Amino acid sequence: MKLVRFLHNQKCRYGMIENDVIYPLAGGLLDKPIRQGLRYALKDVRLLCPVVPTKAICIGLNYRDHAKEMQVQAPKEPVFFMKPSSSVIGSGERIMYPKELVTQIDFEGELAVVMGKTARYVPEEKAASMILGYTIANDVTARNLQPKSGQWTISKSFDTFLPVGPWVETKIDPRDLAIETTVNGEIRQQSSTSEMIFSIPRIVSYLSKVMTLNPGDLILTGTPAGVGSMDVGDVVRVSIEGLGYLENTVGEE
Ligand code: MG
Repeated sequence: MKLVRFLHNQKCRYGMIENDVIYPLAGGLLDKPIRQGLRYALKDVRLLCPVVPTKAICIGLNYRDHAKEMQVQAPKEPVFFMKPSSSVIGSGERIMYPKELVTQIDFEGELAVVMGKTARYVPEEKAASMILGYTIANDVTARNLQPKSGQWTISKSFDTFLPVGPWVETKIDPRDLAIETTVNGEIRQQSSTSEMIFSIPRIVSYLSKVMTLNPGDLILTGTPAGVGSMDVGDVVRVSIEGLGYLENTVGEE
């Protein structure tokens, strides 16, 4: 099932999408999906980020091919950072190139976990039952503000630096999905989620020992090799097998 959040006639709703047709649902993302009997064409609505997360937690360096490219050892323990909910946008919305402080912004195509239940101290073998589904994210990064060591918060947290979407797929095995990022149609990242160093159950379990994971929270699972920069006017598309694609244009702030 593919779950969306969208704007139609200035009203925000949740829906199910099938073959580019959206069926609005009576409740929210986590309620039992009951169709309202209406239908809209995808082209007639504006898709929003499919969830309203209280937080987005991201793992740094979680693909073997990316660690190789950065000429660093694969980490022994996962390293996490956060992006604020104020950085979230949907597919089709503009990534704004900040007008001050920033001289380089990079794309990072990533698979994102969407939490479905409140999770705290979850063992790895129960992690899957806490997950609603999966979507696509772009961990946009102001590379010139990211020092080699130390704090990443500033470089990762600008408004619009977290495109997410287009929908949440609730029925997919995330362990071996092709992932690809293009800029203006040119392939820049091409890998598989099977390259991940730390598994999704391990990540969810680990994080749940630190903080309460709320329904709708996002966990970005790291980016494969091939990260690079974007300029104003560029169209960046992250595609993941079975999840469609997330596409955003870079605009001037
Ligand atoms: Mg990243």
